[in-house]
Amino acid sequence: MNPKINKALEIIKIIEEAGGSAHVVGGAVRDTFLKRQTKDIDLATSFKPDQVMKLFNKVIPLGIEHGTVLVRYKSESYEITTYRTEEGYEDYRHPDQVQFVRSINEDLARRDFTINAMALNSRQKVIDPYKGMEDLNHQVLRAVGHPEERFKEDPLRMMRALRFASELQFTLEQNTYSAIQKQAHLLKQISVERIAVEFEKLCTGRDYNRVLPLCFTIGISNNIPIFQDEPQLIKILPQSRLTSFAEIVAFYCEKGSIYKEDDWIKKWKQSNKVKRESIMLLKAVRRFRENDRELNWILYNLSGSLIVKFSNVMNALNYKVNQQSLEKTYEQLPIQSRKKLAFQANDLLLVFHDQRKGAWIGRSIKRIERAVVLGEIPNEYQAIKEWVKTWKPPEIV
Ligand code: ATP
Ligand code: MG
Repeated sequence: MNPKINKALEIIKIIEEAGGSAHVVGGAVRDTFLKRQTKDIDLATSFKPDQVMKLFNKVIPLGIEHGTVLVRYKSESYEITTYRTEEGYEDYRHPDQVQFVRSINEDLARRDFTINAMALNSRQKVIDPYKGMEDLNHQVLRAVGHPEERFKEDPLRMMRALRFASELQFTLEQNTYSAIQKQAHLLKQISVERIAVEFEKLCTGRDYNRVLPLCFTIGISNNIPIFQDEPQLIKILPQSRLTSFAEIVAFYCEKGSIYKEDDWIKKWKQSNKVKRESIMLLKAVRRFRENDRELNWILYNLSGSLIVKFSNVMNALNYKVNQQSLEKTYEQLPIQSRKKLAFQANDLLLVFHDQRKGAWIGRSIKRIERAVVLGEIPNEYQAIKEWVKTWKPPEIV
């Protein structure tokens, strides 16, 4: 068993010794049985947050009102949440109110799919009231309880169903499928940000090729940004797997969406970081398309960190590039950044001492940078100086 789970079992024992009960729950249980790397381990407990906080030294209250604290234990982090039912569905006047419950079984009832509704106790026994293990073995996603009701309670679950289908390569159980088909429109009630998290996981999941078209068939794509206006777009499939939202934006914009990257960012409410990255990726791809001899300059401008993402977008667009060789090409460029240039702005000013400072400096440095990166001129002070001296003032101003 993975060492992080073993430490979680120790946490459970600590809680049990203090008179409470606790279980590993949700994704961690599922992933353990799928022999899949698990990102975070969640625990559920009969103890209230204040009782948990007394038992451990390093505790961060994450969402006390939802019963959640973060415990640091033996260099690992665990989210520990008091057994509860889902908040506020019965009572929309107090949507944030949480109903704590006594047993793990009641807690499991609020969970979305049978494979996510299993728990592990301190003796590693599986508590599995909804036959999640059976569904896990059959690779099936089945809503806990009545699917239509569960999706009405929280329409995001429909999006989660598809993202798990893609990530885990599972199929949707018939009633779960029909319920999504019938109620996909309810997704409109859910914030774009939450849908985006699931959509990114869906696109970056192993079975994106099967599940993206399924989004169209089942009616999900009519209810998410961009695709609701351009339904056919979702049928254009990346030729290989993308790994982030910025790549997704670059891919679909290059494939000819009526929306530009700016619209994507706004409609999907993405961060400035995603915006910056998608603009850079798209620029790089388009530059390459126009002139592949520019590759070194493209890689230089992506400046290392975006090369993997660039490689992913290129492969998704069927350009068939090799990530390692792109990285190697980047490493072997004459310079990796402007700082390494043998000729800087002050050197330029010495050559053109009668020129007033202005935008020409930035432009000129960029020109030198490009010539050095493309190997047209060596990165040596004298060589660059001689070249620069041949420039005529009109080129400078
Ligand atoms: P991942 O490995 O991607 O994090 P996960 O199953 O852990 O997958 P989370 O979103 O971290 O997914 O949620 C943890 C658990 O909480 C789920 O396994 C599920 O039991 C429950 N859960 C999360 N979101 C919902 C929801 N919208 N409705 C019902 N249960 C949910
Ligand atoms: Mg999780």
